Amino acid sequence: MKLYNTLTRKLEEFKPINPEEVKIYTCGPTVYNFPHVGNYTSYIYWDLLVRTLKANGYGVKRVLNLTDVGHLTSDADEGEDKLEKGAKREGKTVWEIADYYSNYFLENYEKLNLTQPDVVARATDYIAEDEKLVDILTEKGFTYETADGVYFDTSKFAKYPDFARLDLDHLKAGARVDFNTEKRNVSDFALWKFIKPGEDHAMRWDYLGRPGYPGWHIECATIIHEELGETIDIHTGGIDHIPVHHTNEIAESECAFDKKMCNYWLHCNFITIDGEKVSKSLGNTYTLEQLEEQSYMPLDFKMWVLQGHFQGTRNFSFADLSAAKSRRLNWRNKAAAVYQLGQTRKTSVCDQILEALNENLNSPEAFSIIDTNELNYEDWKFVDELFGLGLIDGIESVPDFVKRLMSERDEARKNKDFAVADEIRDQLADNNYTVKDTPEGPVWQFMV
Ligand code: AMP
Ligand code: ZN
Repeated sequence: MKLYNTLTRKLEEFKPINPEEVKIYTCGPTVYNFPHVGNYTSYIYWDLLVRTLKANGYGVKRVLNLTDVGHLTSDADEGEDKLEKGAKREGKTVWEIADYYSNYFLENYEKLNLTQPDVVARATDYIAEDEKLVDILTEKGFTYETADGVYFDTSKFAKYPDFARLDLDHLKAGARVDFNTEKRNVSDFALWKFIKPGEDHAMRWDYLGRPGYPGWHIECATIIHEELGETIDIHTGGIDHIPVHHTNEIAESECAFDKKMCNYWLHCNFITIDGEKVSKSLGNTYTLEQLEEQSYMPLDFKMWVLQGHFQGTRNFSFADLSAAKSRRLNWRNKAAAVYQLGQTRKTSVCDQILEALNENLNSPEAFSIIDTNELNYEDWKFVDELFGLGLIDGIESVPDFVKRLMSERDEARKNKDFAVADEIRDQLADNNYTVKDTPEGPVWQFMV
């Protein structure tokens, strides 16, 4: 299996530390608002990664975090805390906001038929461990204190610019003039933030003798260390994570534990909507519910996502979503037809499909193999295991009345009683089934 590794900027053969337990970490959402369709794309691709690994016989241990604390609206440790912002907006406590949007996210995770991570780690459950990590970094001389927090001194980690190929001189030249003047280097970042007397910040923990809260990046370094150990196999996230968040996670982890943090880093690209970036002001931050209101299932959206490669730039439009919806319906009906007709072809295309995915998760190529070959029902089952698109749902469990109506229609046609046959077709349509007459005989098909 080959994967494009951001660490080396190369397509590499995947070699796990332990094939029985491939360790994967995925940076999860900040739970302060409804995620939009762009946010879900990455989780869909990482689900494909897990499913592909499993299809290759690997065991997987996967951890996903939920950022329920202290993620500021700017990457530069400035701006408003997103959770506090959500709480003000809705007149709730930050804890209520975190709970509500965590549950909301996990429910949608199920709607998208995404494989459940083995551990869903809430950042607020790891505060003591965050403090321990900051202590280690301080003991080793990587930190310094300012009036507003404990900072990581990036000049002490020679490899700091490597991951994102950062040009630190350029960064320095471009830094805002009002940037935190107590910071020694423009790329230094907060490990822990202090809460000033009178500052309105509900989530707070006592550390170093005063109230404060963890910086954003520390939670991932901590959770990885606690749940997966020192070196993991695969770390995933969006491309926006490369220059700051993941760069900082590496600095924290590798300086604290003197071990390589992760062997393979996978980053997915951003989607645009109707050619524009996804943003509130453009009114295109569609949620899954908004797609459902327009009669698109979450799995139709998943189909649309998987039609493209995780590293490609993608443009979302409702016209393309419609096409993806039709394609999924077409696949479900092909699966339903071969199931009913009991057809089995000698050659299976499962190997070919898996081969495509083994080339850096080439889902568009895998999809075109599916489109251009005739699949057995067993193949369809395999395809559904790989992509989790709900393709065979409702096929084996088709209600008895559908089977009864199909044989009654058959009988009526044999007796040339076409009025009755048409009536049965209408009855089926009322229940969202239709009949297709194929050379091998009639089959029921899904209408939606
Ligand atoms: P946020 O909560 O806004 O930081 O978004 C969480 C993550 O969703 C980001 O870090 C990105 O990796 C991902 N994301 C946000 N917008 C998009 C987009 N338009 N396309 C793909 N991924 C996105
Ligand atoms: Zn992270």
